[in-house]
Amino acid sequence: MASLPHKSLRARGGELAAPAAQFKTLNAAGFATGEWPAFSAMLERHGLAPLRPKSIEIFQINVGYVCNQVCAHCHVDAGPDRREQMSSELLALVEEALGASGASTLDITGGAPEMHPEFRAFVERVRARYPELEIIVRSNLTILEAHAKYRDLPEFFAAQRVRVVSSLPFFRADRTDRQRGEGVFESSLRALRRLTEVGYGREEELVLDLVHNPAGAFLPNHMEALEANYRETLAAESIAFNQLIAIANMPIARYLDYLEASGNLEDYLEVLVDGFNPAAARGVMCTNTLSVGWDGRLFDCDFNQMLELPLAGPVRRLQDVEDWAALNDRNVVVANHCYGCTAGAGSSCQGATA
Ligand code: SF4
Ligand code: SF4
Repeated sequence: MASLPHKSLRARGGELAAPAAQFKTLNAAGFATGEWPAFSAMLERHGLAPLRPKSIEIFQINVGYVCNQVCAHCHVDAGPDRREQMSSELLALVEEALGASGASTLDITGGAPEMHPEFRAFVERVRARYPELEIIVRSNLTILEAHAKYRDLPEFFAAQRVRVVSSLPFFRADRTDRQRGEGVFESSLRALRRLTEVGYGREEELVLDLVHNPAGAFLPNHMEALEANYRETLAAESIAFNQLIAIANMPIARYLDYLEASGNLEDYLEVLVDGFNPAAARGVMCTNTLSVGWDGRLFDCDFNQMLELPLAGPVRRLQDVEDWAALNDRNVVVANHCYGCTAGAGSSCQGATA
């Protein structure tokens, strides 16, 4: 098996690390020839333009881009070399904003969010202040095995009633390791076993969801059969989980690089455009989620954050928000990558949208 690079695209000087280069690549192919409608035109065709947020139910914060892994499909272009990290002041501001915004869920993502030096203290403060809030941590699992200082994270998650959402692209080692690195599958199973031991997937308040994403240029499908396969394989390893979520690969950052390098870009974009589903478009996550970047900038979603597409309207930083209701009075900023959310059953951080 060819091993994955050990550095982010950015550290390798990859052209597609820059948002402008990503847009240029994305907007070529059938969009340039007029064969495919731009995403905004597709929305109009279905009477869905402009997309408008309904409310802020989910406050998704990206606490930094550092990660112990360098997955092939990472839309963040995360890796051990990334240094961006949310400051203590901003974490305190997030804590305040959770109450003011009326959000019912805090969704903590990265990178590997557990690598933020204040991760535990922040989660403890939020849990103590908002006992009813749902707190999600997007854990890559291998971080639980990476170093002695992370070994007791399963116990910490359980004590804080954190919902753990973890990527396990497939129920077999070969496909998982191809996307996430050699040995990741076995390491993930060890971490999952420890989560099961502390009660995840078995006790009502300890929810563990796994995320499947396809290996190649196609959409997730046959989810029922797939979930049954995951359950059977993992049960044999003494691992329990709640549900399997499917997320389509977003054609930006390292996945865009992979698509281009492997000659699959046009085929994948065609799958996404042809698969446009108006019902999925109605439920896209930007209608109920606000994304906060490590530096406080606000975005419609984590994907827009990586493409540096700021929120429409005058208020673009958490530091500047005074009126939370007014923040919802805006149009979502869309571009052609949005087809990644609206094909087939739809795709979001919470799974299907249709
Ligand atoms: S996909 Fe997740 S685990 Fe993999 S490099 Fe990106 S942030 Fe890290
Ligand atoms: S990429 Fe972001 S802005 Fe575009 S449809 Fe998906 S969630 Fe909405």
